[in-house]
This record gives sequence, C-alpha cells and structure tokens, in this order.
Amino acid sequence: MNGRSAESGPREPAPRTAGRSGDRSTARPASRSAERGDTTRVEILALLSTAGPLDRRQIAKLLRLGVGTVHEHTRRLLEAGYLQALDAQSGTVGRPRIPLRVVPEAAATLGIRIATDHLVAVVVGLDGRMETSVVHPFDPAQTADPIAQLLTVIRGYLDTPALRTRVKAVGVATPDTVDPDTGYLHFAPRFGWTDFPLGRLLRDQLPVPVLVDNDLTASTTAELLYGAGREYDDFLVLALGDGVGLSAVLDRKVHRGPGGVSGTFGHTYVSDTGVLCACGARGCLETFTNDQGILRAACRRELASADTDIAEIRTRAIAGDPDILALLADVGAILGRALAGVVNLLGTPTIAVIGDNYVLWPGLEPGFLDAMRTSPVTAAHRVKVTVRPWTDSQHAWGAASLALGAPGTLTRL
Ligand SMILES: [Zn+2]
Repeated sequence: MNGRSAESGPREPAPRTAGRSGDRSTARPASRSAERGDTTRVEILALLSTAGPLDRRQIAKLLRLGVGTVHEHTRRLLEAGYLQALDAQSGTVGRPRIPLRVVPEAAATLGIRIATDHLVAVVVGLDGRMETSVVHPFDPAQTADPIAQLLTVIRGYLDTPALRTRVKAVGVATPDTVDPDTGYLHFAPRFGWTDFPLGRLLRDQLPVPVLVDNDLTASTTAELLYGAGREYDDFLVLALGDGVGLSAVLDRKVHRGPGGVSGTFGHTYVSDTGVLCACGARGCLETFTNDQGILRAACRRELASADTDIAEIRTRAIAGDPDILALLADVGAILGRALAGVVNLLGTPTIAVIGDNYVLWPGLEPGFLDAMRTSPVTAAHRVKVTVRPWTDSQHAWGAASLALGAPGTLTRL
C-alpha cells in the first residue's frame, strides 16, 4: 500500500457533499489527500462489499472521487471480471443508473500470520470475506528453515486447483517491526531472527506479489477497508494482548513511520515503579497493561496466584467478578492517561479496540473513559470506542486485506 500507481487517473474536484448520512458527512472533511494511488480500486471493492451494489455516481460521492476517475477504475475492474454490472435501475431521473456488485469468487488473496509456534493461513475473497482459516505448525528456528516451511504452506494453497489462478497476492503479517517497502526484519527477538530479508526470500520463490508487514498494520488496514474506515478518515486502533500496540489511520492512510517503526505504543514510559520490559527499559506502558502486567497486578492484590493465566482473568471478568473489574478499571486508567495525549495530539477521538484482550474492555472502559475525561484538552473528552470481536485469524485476514492493495495486485488490470 506504499507505492503510488500512475494508473489511478486524474483526480477531479471532490463533490461538496461527503456522505449518505449526517454522521458520515460530519466525520469526513471536505478534502482528501491525493495520495490514494493504488488503493482506490481496493476502496471501491471494499465499499461495494460493505454497502452492497452501488452505481458509479454513488461510489464517487461516498469515496469523494470524481465520477470520471470512478468510471476508469470500474471499467478496469469490470473487464477483469471483478465487478458485475446489474440491470439498470428504472424510474430514476436522467440517465439510467447501473449498480455494480463485487464478484467475490473472481479473485482472492492469501493472508498468513506468523506466530511463535504456528501460522494462520486464510483465503479471503474479493468481498473481504474470510473463506477458510487453517492453523499450520511452524518452527521459526533458523535451523528449521522457516522460509522453506512458509513456502510449503503458501504453495499448498497456490497449487490447489480451485485457487491456482484465483489467488492474486500473498500478505504476510509478523508481530515485529518490518520495513514495509522491502519486508526486511532488522530484529525479531521472539523468532530469533536478525537482519532477515523475509519479503525478498518469499518474493524470489513465489509467482504472485508478496507483501510482508507488521500484524498491527495489517489489521489496521482491514479496519480501514471494512471497519471504522467506512465511517471515518482518521481513527486509532488499540491492540490489547500479550503486547500493547497503537496504530493510526490519518487521512485514510495507515501511518507507518519511516521504516515502519510506528505502533510501539506499549513502550511509552509511564512510571519508574514497573518491572523491566522486554525492550530493556523500565516502566513501559505494556508492563502494566498487557497479559503479564494484569496478572502481576492481580497477584499483588491477592486475586491470583503464580499459576493463574490470563484466560482465567478473562473468564472472571466476563462473569462480573467485582475485584477483577476494579483491577481492570485501574489498568484502564493507565491506558487512558497514556492514550489521551495521543488523541489530543492527533485530534482523532475514534478508537477501535482489537486483540485477544478485547473481552476485558467492559472492565477496562470505566477507568479508561474517566482518564480521558479528566484530560484538560477536549479532544479526549469526545472519545468513541468500538470493540472488535477477535480471533486468531484476524491478523491473517488483515494480511490478506493488505495484499489486495499491494502494488501489482489490482494496479495492473
Ligand atoms: Zn518496553
């Protein structure tokens, strides 16, 4: 999603009205960055997938593109068989309007999420729907040749007769910082990889475009295409689990930072009373708010023992255990104080919560919102949080969404 396509066509002045609903028009500003590039076709497919069939004028209005630009992109998508024109609508004033629909089976992307001891592979149709999700064993040790293992899994899909010509790109998501242009990992301690050119090693061996990116970035891309991005041009994605990450979408672009280093929000300093963090520093936000941080706090309050795991804390939170909920409210306050500064800086009060600990949000939220509302700056007072149900497949689904926008997937139609 980083390159820009010369095929995106000349941009035309944005229509004055920005959306179908009042909420949407107020959420979106009157202008949009010209840096849409090769994501325009992905956005058209995502809009039609979530909103249902629309004609070109409706697409232009909702995506705030010129009608001529939409004509050019949809013409290419129609020729490729990725869109289908439905019967013209009768009874409308002026020229008949021809709704377009996505043809989900016309193409697909493969998403792979690399975890410490397994891979999750998903096939996603053109409509963004996850068709299959399979867990494969994985040993990241260099002696076990992780590239060979990845290629075996990926080729298993690409060689399947039903997918051989249908899968147009592969997206790979890892928990570490990745250079999004090259798929290069400088340091991936949980896998024992240093200076590992993962993207190039896969691209050299595979016949379709391959994009390697961070898993939070991948899931944020899915949120942009199919979630909060359908309502907002700017929002944050807060990932809660064994780590704590924060990703920003600004003017419909996932912010990566130079070299893809954005998102390591969990290493924000919050206190010098904390334990040593995996990053080597003391007092990082995630040492108070990730799985282990919550378990340590529960042990300190004698609500848990050394044998307690986060699954038990989740179960007790869902059951309404008042002591656990009080603990989570305090953890939520730590998160809220740290996030208030970001919300005030960027002016983006919309937050989507993802990750394994999404189920803890009802417990975290009271403290989180209190902390936001006591911030002296008003942007944090308007914070609006949406929680996304989470499964192990979600990062892989994000990787597949990312692959759809990879240079060469749709831009060469
Ligand atoms: Zn840290």
